[in-house]
Amino acid sequence: MRRLESQPEGLSADEVVRRLAVHGPNRLPEPERPGPLRRLARQFAGLLIQVLLGAAAITALLGHWVDTAVILLVVIANAVLGFVQEGRAERALEAIRDMLVPFATVLRGGRRLAVPAGELVPGDVVLLEPGDRVAADLRLFRARALRIEEAVLTGESLPAEKDIAIAEATAMVGDRGGMAHAGTLVVAGSGAGFVVATGARTELGRVTNLLGAAEGIQTPLLRQMAQFARRLTFVVLAVAGLTLVFGLLVRGMPFAELFIAVVGIAVAAIPEGLPTVLTVALAIGVRRMARRNAIIRRLPAVETLGSVSVICTDKTGTLTRNEMTVRAVALPDGTALEVGGDGYAPHGGFARDGREIDPASVAALTNLARAAALCNDAALREAGAEWRAEGDPMEAALLAFAMKAGLDLRAEAVARPRTDAIPFDAVHRFMATLHHDHQGGAMIMVKGAPERVIPMCDRDASDAADGRFAAEAWLLRADALAAGGNRVLALACREHPADRTTLGVAEVEGGLTLLGLVGLQDPPRPEAVAAVAACRAAGIRVKMITGDHAGTACAIGRQIGLANTGQAVTGAEIDRMDDATLLRVVAETDVFARTSPEHKLRLVDALRAAGAITAMTGDGVNDAPALARADVGIAMGQRGTEAAKEAAQVVLADDNFASIAAAVQEGRTVRDNLRKSVVFLLPINGGESLSVMLAVLLGTTLPITPVQILWVNMVSTVALAMALAFEPGEPDAMRRPPRPSAEPLVDRALLWRVALVSALILAGVFGTFEAALAAGLEVELARTIAVNTLVAMEVAYLFSVRYLRQPSFTFHGVRGTPAVLIALGLVVVMQSLFTYAPPMEALFGTRPLPPLWAGVVLAVGAALFVVLEVEKWVRRRITKGR
Ligand code: ADP
Ligand code: MG
Repeated sequence: MRRLESQPEGLSADEVVRRLAVHGPNRLPEPERPGPLRRLARQFAGLLIQVLLGAAAITALLGHWVDTAVILLVVIANAVLGFVQEGRAERALEAIRDMLVPFATVLRGGRRLAVPAGELVPGDVVLLEPGDRVAADLRLFRARALRIEEAVLTGESLPAEKDIAIAEATAMVGDRGGMAHAGTLVVAGSGAGFVVATGARTELGRVTNLLGAAEGIQTPLLRQMAQFARRLTFVVLAVAGLTLVFGLLVRGMPFAELFIAVVGIAVAAIPEGLPTVLTVALAIGVRRMARRNAIIRRLPAVETLGSVSVICTDKTGTLTRNEMTVRAVALPDGTALEVGGDGYAPHGGFARDGREIDPASVAALTNLARAAALCNDAALREAGAEWRAEGDPMEAALLAFAMKAGLDLRAEAVARPRTDAIPFDAVHRFMATLHHDHQGGAMIMVKGAPERVIPMCDRDASDAADGRFAAEAWLLRADALAAGGNRVLALACREHPADRTTLGVAEVEGGLTLLGLVGLQDPPRPEAVAAVAACRAAGIRVKMITGDHAGTACAIGRQIGLANTGQAVTGAEIDRMDDATLLRVVAETDVFARTSPEHKLRLVDALRAAGAITAMTGDGVNDAPALARADVGIAMGQRGTEAAKEAAQVVLADDNFASIAAAVQEGRTVRDNLRKSVVFLLPINGGESLSVMLAVLLGTTLPITPVQILWVNMVSTVALAMALAFEPGEPDAMRRPPRPSAEPLVDRALLWRVALVSALILAGVFGTFEAALAAGLEVELARTIAVNTLVAMEVAYLFSVRYLRQPSFTFHGVRGTPAVLIALGLVVVMQSLFTYAPPMEALFGTRPLPPLWAGVVLAVGAALFVVLEVEKWVRRRITKGR
């Protein structure tokens, strides 16, 4: 402490600023990332691009300079487009990563604060609790049953016991019992320590050059599509090779001309835009989810969210507001009191049977209130007209209750200072504190779940004399309170030998005197009610998993609108079930009460065994395994521990159930947009390659030259397909059942559409070309007509594919989105240049289009739109009939 010039109350704010300037932020050096040149070079790594570069070389050797120039131009334009879009996608993802900075709890100037871990400086006092990821190297000066898992540094997965003893200067990291090291995980107990090293100077900083290696943008679906594209590329190259041989040997065409045609087939058939478009669609999904408070930590979650079929959620704070107020009191003499007032303000009266009473006249109430005030870690703060809770909202509500009962909180704390405590944990379900007063007495105060605390009592404050204790009757009173939607706490106390200043669990577990019960109300979040309804409409089951009493859980479940709220299954019942029974129970139960985190793990396993795609929420250290095991683990951003956030794939910025529902909806949109992109690109490639191949096979003039195909594919098609990545969700996205993620992206109905559109494009291109020739137009003009027809059909198809099943011929459908309109504008401009600008005439062999034929082109596009609308209509009729 002397060397760090610090004290147990921590540094002052000014001192922190000064030290931050000297020592720099508490951050590990960033892993090196590929620079822009490297990333641009990566754009040329694709197989197709290499084929094209080869083709450019061969055309150059053959002296076809125009072709060489066009190929190179298009390749470069395409690489730049990919480079820009991928860069934007990566930046979007990075911005989201920055939203997830870890926090540390520090004491500064005697005040407890949560600060970003990057702002820690040597000398800072850091407080440790279960679930914290230690943010810097600490010398501990307080440790209570503190256990820390140090596997990152020592490889030892069993947590190490920590104390404040001095270790040998030569001790290895694993033997330094008085140190907590950066990057390790607090699993139990509590502690405090001085920061002795930050950033790269920590033990973690010394071993970390392995950490970091930034992962690229990859998900199962993207990988699947990339693999598909690669396979298709090989098939296409084989077909192109065969065509070359066929043309040379059977048709006897000249090599130079044939070679260019074959390059055209390859370009036409390979969906080179696909991977970029899919990556962009995914990145946009991530950004939209973040905007709706769901922060994606692992990309595959974006896809999985779209196919979630069961959501298991916490109750307190996720479905409810976690704004508690004591509403009811049950006293040992059998009376019940109602409590008035709003929020955390300590104003409000007590009533018995509707009649106002004076709280000071009821001694039992004062005793109960005292236990509530002392066995408590929260604080109330008056901010203007408002009273705010600091710490656990339930405990803050107990403080407000104690003040309403007439207690002076500060005076109580001074009269009976706390000497020891057993903190609340979800397994024990109680909290106990030890207090020594100044008259030489000592007292234990206990509060916790009634089923837990009542059995630890052998008397209550009314029958202390005769010793008969009606535990059964008390449990019934607790059940009655719970059935009204109250969260119920039992409060008890016990004398303690005055010479002992420590408290063990065994000393609390018997011989207590019950002081009474309190019932707290925690209203549902209105937006959660709406979100649960939305999920149920979308065929997603919502299950509540809570540590609370079964009665409370069912009552809240009803208020929230869950299904099956008649009966809850408790953690103890789950313990008695074998896996097969659990599998059955899980299918028909939506409320699980009095559970501990291990039950979540069993529930996840049972749900997954039943074939459900399961999302699971959590906040504590012990929730981490269940979060990791679920298909989508969702951690609470505000309440959650670092351990839970790290295990999760998604972090909720606002801890709100409604954000889960929003993320699921966005997930479905992403999946739809991926499908739309694929369904859009495939038939365009199909139609183009069929056109070229047919011409080669028939030995007729090509309706579109290879460089023209190159132009269409790498300019218009990519621009149009990119617009699909920005599509908003379809209105029915949350009105259809979830789709399993294993289901292929493109199902039978869509495959049929791919085939149909390929054929229609073939017909359109060939038809207009032949018609133009028949009308006596020169070949160049006929080709210009064919190319423009192709693009017009693309645009029409884009509008059709924006709604896979719903009609596109609606006001919204025809108006499009900004992205669609921008793409459309871009294509119109490019296509006009292509058709009418003299330099393009030289490069692509185009001719200005006469107005009549421009009309024909637009008409063919419109016709495609109409045909596809009819097809959708017929399909809707068929599926409705089923
Ligand atoms: P939830 O699922 O509602 O978050 P918890 O696991 O937090 O449930 O709490 C379970 C039960 O433990 C509560 O119903 C209450 O009876 C008891 N409990 C919760 N917090 C405390 C606390 N700070 N002190 C004593 N008992 C508590
Ligand atoms: Mg809780």
